[in-house]
Amino acid sequence: MHQLRWHAVLQQWIVFSTDRQNRPQMPANWCPFDPGSGKVPDQYDVFLYPNDFPGFGPNADPFTPIEAPGLFAENGPRGACDVVLYSPEHTLPPSKLTVENWRKVIDVWTRRTGEHAANPAIALVDVFENSGEAVGVTMPHPHGQIYATPFLGPTVEKEIESTSQYSRTHNGACLFCDLLTEELKREERIVASNEHFAAFVPFAARFPAETVIYARRHVRTLLDLTNEELDSLAQIISIMRRKYDGLYGFLLPLMMAVKQAPLQQKEAPYHFHIQFLPLQRSATKLKYLATMETGYGVFLADTAPEEMAEHLRNSEPKTAQAP
Ligand SMILES: [Zn+2]
Ligand SMILES: [Zn+2]
Repeated sequence: MHQLRWHAVLQQWIVFSTDRQNRPQMPANWCPFDPGSGKVPDQYDVFLYPNDFPGFGPNADPFTPIEAPGLFAENGPRGACDVVLYSPEHTLPPSKLTVENWRKVIDVWTRRTGEHAANPAIALVDVFENSGEAVGVTMPHPHGQIYATPFLGPTVEKEIESTSQYSRTHNGACLFCDLLTEELKREERIVASNEHFAAFVPFAARFPAETVIYARRHVRTLLDLTNEELDSLAQIISIMRRKYDGLYGFLLPLMMAVKQAPLQQKEAPYHFHIQFLPLQRSATKLKYLATMETGYGVFLADTAPEEMAEHLRNSEPKTAQAP
């Protein structure tokens, strides 16, 4: 079953891809992403691999916008899901990628975003990575994913609503630009920065050690970034990933979302940024999304964002100059 079903109460599409449960067991010590497997080129640096079990697929039924979905609306999940292989080295954790390697990964994200932008049926390109067993990753090979979806989803819709409202009430200003300016002025939540990007713990962080990377320039997608900015982006991602590993002295399980403006809604106010959502709330404890968070949408946080920013600032590497 490959289908979208409308959650009439929460007003959002839920993606059903039920044959995900029937994934074949892979032979021990065999990895489809390793050179020589027959599934990937014998030599590669970074490789885009079409997902074998996509939630969204190019051959799925097309998505049709529905004015008033009613109680039991269904829709087609036409889109794309790709796996981005960060490196041919099976045991290399993503956080240990070099800046040059990150730049190659970013180039694949950007190229794929450009390809999807040309397709009017694709609303958004979601670039992300789940890292660590705590986030449910069973495949150790370093990889991230790119989903091209035919709708935006509630979080990006909410972000656009917020930025639109802010712009209306602040003479057309960008919410993200203003937040960044103010964070840079206050300094206490800044974790790292370079010429084109700054990383900080949000004032009201929902997750322990949550950080965001904002572009200093007002840009909407990866496609707006200059060559120099793309290098800078690779550098700050590398710095943040290493800082996370330095936080408790082990590879920190986390989610990374690279967030871009809707591809087809050219007027929607948006600002390119990256979110890091780690799940560790201390060296030994995981943060679970329990009833308050999941049932009520209310996040309970037990770490002061300013303290966490200081821990991360002091975690290696300490400066942006020595990634
Ligand atoms: Zn592998
Ligand atoms: Zn902006």
